[in-house]
Amino acid sequence: MTARRTTSLTAVVTSRFRLGEADRVLTLVSPDRGKFKAIAKGVRKPTSRLGGGVEPFAELSLGLAAGRTFDVVTQVRPLRVWLGLRSRLQSAAVAWYVAELVERATSEEQPDPALYAVLLRAWDLLESEAPDMLVARWAELALLDAAGEAPQLDACLDCARPPLEGETLRWDAEAGGIRCVAHPGGDELSSSALRLLRALRRYAPEEMVALRIPAAVMQEINRALRDSIRLLYGSDPRSRSFLDEVTRP
Ligand SMILES: [Zn+2]
Repeated sequence: MTARRTTSLTAVVTSRFRLGEADRVLTLVSPDRGKFKAIAKGVRKPTSRLGGGVEPFAELSLGLAAGRTFDVVTQVRPLRVWLGLRSRLQSAAVAWYVAELVERATSEEQPDPALYAVLLRAWDLLESEAPDMLVARWAELALLDAAGEAPQLDACLDCARPPLEGETLRWDAEAGGIRCVAHPGGDELSSSALRLLRALRRYAPEEMVALRIPAAVMQEINRALRDSIRLLYGSDPRSRSFLDEVTRP
């Protein structure tokens, strides 16, 4: 590829770290470019022109100049800001968690508009105060589906029989879905948990606000999807422990 001159594109910041006295290195995900890194010079100085522009939970229009290692951010204009996420700790923890899931699932310089859409949708849901934990589970399932690892929720992995109403099943994260208890492999999954997983695939969490979901069922799908996400990414996402901490009952 030839050297990039100044370009402009839309992106969100999915993670960032400090560099030197005043700079930040940003990891960005763009619907047009996939994942990339850029440096925001002097951004931590109070007088910085870029300043608050590169705060998290915003969709940005960025001016970028080609740099030696990373592109350099020359201009920032927020297009959309999810302000509510900055003030609610638990929503913010879920927002960072989903950002990490999307960041890790997105390849460098490979646009993936579907993954980008999952992230913005999750932030919208959190901003509209859909239940944080439902949004987290919704995003995990959406990520698995988008990654081509969609769990089988409609029939047994082994004998292809659709489960009966009220039937207890097994969840096999490795094989990716449900199976009858008669076959070996996986952990028990209640029919209520299966119903919730199916509902999450079909409906958005804001449509499920009126549902009274027992804590034990939320726990079940939490465990089931956590195992699936761990297998997809090879480890627990880094932001998962912070999320666990702020959501501990
Ligand atoms: Zn079966």
